Amino acid sequence: MVSGLFGWGVGATHLPWSIQLLALLSLVTLIAGWVLLRIDRDLLQPMRRLSEHARRLHEGDNTHLMMTTYLTERHDEIGELARQFQHLVEDLKTHNAQLLEQSLIDPLTKLGNRRMLENRLDAALPLTRRLDCTVSVLMMDVDHFKPYNDYYGHPAGDECLVQISGVLRDTFRRETDIVIRLGGEEFLVLLIDTPSQEAWRLADAMRGMIQAMRIPHEYSSAADVVTVSVGVVTSPPGISADIDDMIACADEVLYACKAQGRNITQARMLSSTTEVLEANA
Ligand code: GH3
Ligand code: MG
Ligand code: MG
Repeated sequence: MVSGLFGWGVGATHLPWSIQLLALLSLVTLIAGWVLLRIDRDLLQPMRRLSEHARRLHEGDNTHLMMTTYLTERHDEIGELARQFQHLVEDLKTHNAQLLEQSLIDPLTKLGNRRMLENRLDAALPLTRRLDCTVSVLMMDVDHFKPYNDYYGHPAGDECLVQISGVLRDTFRRETDIVIRLGGEEFLVLLIDTPSQEAWRLADAMRGMIQAMRIPHEYSSAADVVTVSVGVVTSPPGISADIDDMIACADEVLYACKAQGRNITQARMLSSTTEVLEANA
């Protein structure tokens, strides 16, 4: 009797096996639940956040470029993974920005290139139509540049192009001015809301400044220094400017300048095929 009571009250080994099994099962379930909760909190949740972050980046959601500190400030392997992932994203971002710049900038002169012109025109032209502004295109070409290269060498030719770009940059400084190197020794400037006379005046001032740099050119028939010819075309306000037409027209004016001896600036309204507004020679 006494030992029976003692057995029930103190010795677990005397509990019925079914209760012992139930207790064991409860303990195992508790431990398993706790382990699962820890796995979910410490592993699965951060992995889910990491993959959600990657998904948003992939979909181009730039509002989530920075990862949450919840991930990057962790002191475990997930934190390390998140930090490395973040570095990778930042490197890619920098690299993409460099590639974008390279695709829009001429490496020699650091002026914009043809693609930059297209990009800027996409934004500028609808505005000029809406506001009824004039648009002027200036096409500039270095005179007798082939003999210059042949005589002074390609590096000297490159340096000459860089100096000419500096004059272009100094002359056309308004935020809306688009100055690009079309290729070779040809440059294009697009001026918005500039009267045709003013466009011609600026173009001719630039021509004069290039001549005033006095870069020697032994083999030019135009002068004893490097010179340029410039064709200017302006589309009047109210006329929807087709940029390809304007470039083609500016090209015609430019080659008229060449035919007339070079080192010349000539301007024309887009609607007119013959009328020369201004010419310095
Ligand atoms: P014109 O007065 O009729 O324009 O004659 P030009 O000799 O300037 O014209 P042409 O088109 O015959 O020659 C252009 C030269 O420009 C050919 C090439 O040697 C030179 N050139 C083109 N791109 C570059 C460049 O990036 N660097 C250098 N140094 N020269 C270039
Ligand atoms: Mg040329
Ligand atoms: Mg030339």
